Amino acid sequence: MVTLLGKSRSELAQWAVARGQPAFRGKQLHEWIYEKGVSQLEQIPVLPKQWREAIGDVKVGRSEVVYSAVTKDGTQKLLLQLEDGKIIETVGIPSSKRLSVCVSTQVGCPMGCTFCATGKGGWQRNLAKHEIIDQVLTIQQQMERRVSHLVFMGMGEPLLNLDNLVGAIHSFHEDMGISYRHITVSTVGIPDKIPQLATYNLPLTLAVSLHAPTQQLRRQLIPSADRYELDRLMADCQEYVKITGRRVSFEYTLLAGVNDGIEQAINLAGLIRGFQSHVNLIPYNPIGDADFRRPTAKAIQKFVEVLEQEKVAVSVRRTRGLEADAACGQLRGRFTNLTPKSPEDQS
Ligand code: SAH
Ligand code: SF4
Repeated sequence: MVTLLGKSRSELAQWAVARGQPAFRGKQLHEWIYEKGVSQLEQIPVLPKQWREAIGDVKVGRSEVVYSAVTKDGTQKLLLQLEDGKIIETVGIPSSKRLSVCVSTQVGCPMGCTFCATGKGGWQRNLAKHEIIDQVLTIQQQMERRVSHLVFMGMGEPLLNLDNLVGAIHSFHEDMGISYRHITVSTVGIPDKIPQLATYNLPLTLAVSLHAPTQQLRRQLIPSADRYELDRLMADCQEYVKITGRRVSFEYTLLAGVNDGIEQAINLAGLIRGFQSHVNLIPYNPIGDADFRRPTAKAIQKFVEVLEQEKVAVSVRRTRGLEADAACGQLRGRFTNLTPKSPEDQS
């Protein structure tokens, strides 16, 4: 079956011409799919009815919103049901000037990070390009506002789905007018994939999830780090900077008594010395069954001060909407527990 979402204006025109229509159908389809956000061809009145009926099995490629929650600050969390019944999370985060979307790239995640709800749930499959694009269109429609920024920090490891990730990023830029510079891809690191992403030479921001300043601690928190030594990951980050001329930012989830000590802050500063980089600290969001705790505000402040003394640019991520399951994968986990008859549980 053909899926139209994800096709460019010229691809839509080619597709229409191949089915006996004039090329301007491409422009019409593009407008109705990306601007007006239709979910079925029947909703496009400018298309000849006869043709619509004749072309048969064609889908736009939109998912269904099965749950939505809005927090006090306006953050909107959606659970989307895909064609095969699987469920993913997408979050829209508004501020006065921006609407950011936290985008998922996989159903689940195989990396198994010990503090992550998505990691605990395992991996089911990669998202198709149109399933990545759909999340942003859906947030745009639900929140009745244009999306300006994207962060690939939802469910899944983006670099394990590189082709569809890059395809979707091109579409966000070309078809939805979202600047590459407003797009951040977050990765825990997959061997060879960071230099591979660099070869696309897109002016986006790469965020690397470090969480530990030593290989020994990192592999305890991120089992998959066993196959990708910290030294090699840092060398790949250097190469990324060299190829793209862009900074890399580092994410560090703060876990009380595990990686939030003064010595670890000093070691972290040492590890990233020489990088023109930024550290984004994410205080741990409790996910229920994990053995971690969120550090106190005082401990977080101390960690920040040590990094600043070491001349590291650092920020602490504000936790938005903690009350509605802020951590990645949490909302979906809760939803599928609560609704045992969801299609996902039957598969
Ligand atoms: N797989 C990618 C992107 C998705 S996770 C990655 O790991 O980078 C986005 C960020 O949220 C990562 O930095 C991840 O470590 C962090 N994260 C996951 N679970 C968390 C939790 N319970 N509390 C705080 N941060 C968490
Ligand atoms: Fe996957 Fe990222 Fe969660 Fe790790 S933190 S399990 S890489 S989604």
